[in-house]
Amino acid sequence: MNEFEAKISLVTFAKSLFDRGYAVGSAGNISMMLEDGTFLATPSGSSFGTLNEVDISHFDEEGTLLGGKPPTKEVPLHLACYQTHPSVRSVVHLHATYSTLLASCEGLLDGLPFDPFTPYYVMQIGEVGVLPYRKPGSVLLARDIEQRPQFTTYLMANHGMLVCGTSLSKAVFAAEEFEQSAKLWYLGQSLAIRYLREDEIEELKAGK
Ligand code: ZN
Repeated sequence: MNEFEAKISLVTFAKSLFDRGYAVGSAGNISMMLEDGTFLATPSGSSFGTLNEVDISHFDEEGTLLGGKPPTKEVPLHLACYQTHPSVRSVVHLHATYSTLLASCEGLLDGLPFDPFTPYYVMQIGEVGVLPYRKPGSVLLARDIEQRPQFTTYLMANHGMLVCGTSLSKAVFAAEEFEQSAKLWYLGQSLAIRYLREDEIEELKAGK
């Protein structure tokens, strides 16, 4: 995928997320690594619904702007994801409703944020790293990622979710799956849910 095709893909996925309510206002950001090792990201203060290819930020691993508009202020957080996970090619950060509610619960710890009751939660998301509350844009978030290299999906306390993927589509789909799982968790709290048994969870993990 060349730089232009990558920009079209980024704009298309962002619009798709916006149209289905995963992002509102100028919240959230997406980045992806190009084949030459440089990066694309949604510009600072932009809406996922009205992005234009020429505005997409292009920058290097130091965060130096190579083209387009200045990127999201969360670039250090995104770069920390690529540095911590050499196979990652895209990072999606959303303030989606249910995962943000989940991220705002007291007592969250690294691991499974709630007992699984759907196979896709186990297969697509699995264990999640919990980043402590930081002011948005804080440089400390990069260190928080570096300290949790065993995870590729994160809840950012009182803020939202962050998902790393080996491609843009995989990162977006995993983010959607995470939000859907958090929605099911929230809606199911007063129901007599049959949670997956330990052996059922192990079977799913083994098939990963
Ligand atoms: Zn954010």
